[in-house]
Amino acid sequence: MQQHVAARALVVRDEIMIIKCPICDKRFPENDAEAALPFCSMRCKMIDAARWLNEAYGLPEEKMHEEPDWEEE
Ligand SMILES: [Zn+2]
Repeated sequence: MQQHVAARALVVRDEIMIIKCPICDKRFPENDAEAALPFCSMRCKMIDAARWLNEAYGLPEEKMHEEPDWEEE
């Protein structure tokens, strides 16, 4: 019965989740003051944003259908 109490205390302590940063794979507690969830820091958050932008602009361009400019008559 005493053991049951101890087990519950352990569960409470485990409620702080350890998160793995998707950018640098660093593990950090979710309540880390430096964290910018789900990233370990603002720096990794910015890296992710930059990657996302690169992907947005880096898409292979489909053949651009050129619209005729001013039609000269
Ligand atoms: Zn990171």
